[in-house]
Amino acid sequence: MEEKRLEENKQLREQLDRLLKEARRNEQTQTSFDDFSLAVVAAQGPKELFKLILQEQKKFRVDEIRLCLVDRFHEVERLLTESYQNSYKGLSFIDTETSKLLISDIPDRPVLGTRIISKYDWLINIEETSKYKSAALLPLKRGREIIGIQLLLSKNATRYNKDVATTFLQKLAAMIAISIENCINRQRTLELGYQDGLTNAYNRRYFDERLKHEVNRCTRNKTDLVCLFIDVDFFKKINDQHGHQVGDAVLVRLVALMSEQVRSSDIVARYGGEEFAIILPDTGIQLAHEVAERIRSKVEAQKLIFDDQALGITVSIGLASLSQIKYQKEIEGKEIAAFETDHLDQLLLGKADEALYQAKQTGRNQVVIQKMAS
Ligand code: GH3
Ligand code: MG
Ligand code: MG
Repeated sequence: MEEKRLEENKQLREQLDRLLKEARRNEQTQTSFDDFSLAVVAAQGPKELFKLILQEQKKFRVDEIRLCLVDRFHEVERLLTESYQNSYKGLSFIDTETSKLLISDIPDRPVLGTRIISKYDWLINIEETSKYKSAALLPLKRGREIIGIQLLLSKNATRYNKDVATTFLQKLAAMIAISIENCINRQRTLELGYQDGLTNAYNRRYFDERLKHEVNRCTRNKTDLVCLFIDVDFFKKINDQHGHQVGDAVLVRLVALMSEQVRSSDIVARYGGEEFAIILPDTGIQLAHEVAERIRSKVEAQKLIFDDQALGITVSIGLASLSQIKYQKEIEGKEIAAFETDHLDQLLLGKADEALYQAKQTGRNQVVIQKMAS
């Protein structure tokens, strides 16, 4: 009798111990969840945010994480990844045109289990799908609109099953969705500070930063890059004869025309007053020359009508390519010093400006490629 009671007591004590331990664990999970949520909401920019979502989130017993964002206006990917040279492992984008079916198939609430691994294998490397035994798929929503999905993968078959409570996961998804939205809006505002108010072209600050970035990227990828410098001929006369407002309208029209002649991935910027600069990444000098010549002739051909008067404008364009600068250094027998690698963008800009000067000196309304050393 006595023995039985002792045994019962022992079992009760052990049970109590287990419950206490579990309560402590839950408390710790709650605290670290709260800390994580706060960090996500406070993240300064995409880099920090994606590190939290794709890396730090693994501390909640997740083996791998995939994040896929819906890109409604081909804008989100550019806003979130453009300023960073590395893409984020586990992050992808689907656009509303080519992936309509995929998007309409995203569930409205979290789905847990094993089946979703094969259903969403397009988010995982084919070789890796067999590594994971259970998963949680969380829709990321703004109001009712799906803005993306998060897939939490586990090697443990029982980690995510139908019996796991989803409130925690739903809260997490809501927090992440809000933070991503905030991040996109923040990047958009930042970009607005990079725009010229009159013409909506990028401004000089953006151009300078972007040129540096593109020069580094093309150097790494061993592709060429061309920089165009464009200046309106006798613009002062247009202002003097037709007034400043007409001059402004000419600049606006000019940016529209130049943007039509380049790819959407090229960068058109207002460098100053009536001077513009264009970056053509992954482009050789020959193709760039054709683009420049097209811009020049279109500007010349179009007649702008102001106050019943047809206005003829022309532009002069200077070109310089990255490969030509490197080649010139080579035939001069010079190594490109570390200092110059850092300043290749400035060197390139200087060369394009020299070419523009030549175009002005030798008659205007023409395209000139930088002179090569002989
Ligand atoms: P060139 O062929 O040698 O380039 O002659 P230009 O008259 O174009 O050159 P210059 O640099 O002497 O004159 C540029 C003029 O552009 C002077 C300035 O008043 C005008 N300008 C600069 N910014 C603006 C602007 O935002 N709006 C208008 N309407 N004019 C501007
Ligand atoms: Mg001018
Ligand atoms: Mg000028």
